[in-house]
Amino acid sequence: MPSNTLTSEAPDSVGTLIDGRAIAAQIQHELAGRITALIERGIVPGLAFVRVGEDPASKVYVGRKEKACAELGIFSQTHVLPEQTQESDLLVLLERLNADSRVHGILVQAPLPKQIRESIVYSTVSPKKDVDGFHPVNVGKLMLADPTGFQPCTPAGVRELLVRSQVKIGGAEVVILGRGNIVGKPMAAMLCQKDKNANATVTICHSATRDLAAHCRRADILIAAMGVAEFVKADMVKPGATVIDVGVNRVNDPAAKSGSRLVGDVDFASVRPVAGKITPNPGGVGPMTIAMLMSNTVRAAEMAA
Ligand code: NAP
Repeated sequence: MPSNTLTSEAPDSVGTLIDGRAIAAQIQHELAGRITALIERGIVPGLAFVRVGEDPASKVYVGRKEKACAELGIFSQTHVLPEQTQESDLLVLLERLNADSRVHGILVQAPLPKQIRESIVYSTVSPKKDVDGFHPVNVGKLMLADPTGFQPCTPAGVRELLVRSQVKIGGAEVVILGRGNIVGKPMAAMLCQKDKNANATVTICHSATRDLAAHCRRADILIAAMGVAEFVKADMVKPGATVIDVGVNRVNDPAAKSGSRLVGDVDFASVRPVAGKITPNPGGVGPMTIAMLMSNTVRAAEMAA
C-alpha cells in the first residue's frame, strides 16, 4: 500500500476547528484587568482611527474595531477625511494625534487613495503609538526580535491562534503563501525567530514560486495570505497539517441577497477532511486581528504611563 497517498494517511475525522472568536474573546477578557488597572491610575487607553474616503470594507473594519473598543472601555475617536484629501493634510492630522496625550494608539485604515503614499503615512505615526506595527522602527524591531516594538496585528493574531490551540511551532515546517508587508513577511519573521513559540523552518511562497503545491504539501503549518479565493485545495495539504486561512475575498454568489459573499484563500469544504486543525473563515483570523489591536493599544497606554 503506498504511504504517500491522501487516503492512506488521512485522519479518520475532519480537522478540528480553531475557533478564532473564542480565542479572541479570551484575549479580550485577559485585557479587561489591565484596562481596569490603568483606569484606576487615571489613564483611559485611547485609540484614534483615521479613515480616508468611503471604501465600504474600510467602514466595516473600522466599525468592528470601534465596537471592540467600546466593549472593553477603550476610548476611541474616528477621523473621517474626504477621498480627495492631500497627503500633507493627513500628515498634519497625524502629527496632532501624535501630540495628543489622550491618544495612545493610532490606526490609519488601508487602503488609502492613490495621491497618498502609505509609506510616508506609516512613518509619520509615532512608533510609540504605532499599534498597527507598520512604522519602519517597529518593522526593524520585529526583525531583531526586540520586544519593545509593536507587532502587526494579523500575524500576531495567527501566532496566538497557533499557540493557544497547542500547535507545535518549534521545528515545524511552516509554509506561508504570500509575501505582503502586512501578513506574509512579518508572519515569517515572527515564526522563524530563535524563541519560544517560534523556531520554525519557514518557507514563503509568492507568484514566482515554482511548484507552489509541492511546497504546500511539505507544510506542518500552512498559512494562506494571498487574497486568491479558495486557492488551497485538499491535494495541496499534508494530512494532519494545521491550516490557517487569512484571506478575505469577495466572490459573486447569485444565491446571496447581496449577490456576493466573502470566502478565504482555502477551499474549506475540501481541505477540512485532510487537515488536522483548521481555521474557519469567517470566524478564524479576523477576530484575532481586532483582539491584537486591542492588546497593542493597552500596551501602548501602559508604556505611556
Ligand atoms: P498583498 O500584500 O497583496 O500580498 C499578496 C501576496 O500573495 C503577494 O506576495 C503575492 O505575490 C501573493 N500571490 C497573489 N496571488 C498569487 C498566486 N496566484 N500565486 C502565488 N502567490 C500569489 O496582500 P496582504 O495584504 O498580505 O493580504 C493577503 C490576504 O489577507 C488578502 O485577502 C487580505 O484581504 C487578507 N487579510 C486579512 C486580514 C484579516 O484580518 N483577516 C488582515 C490583513 C489581510 P507577489 O508578491 O509575487 O505579487
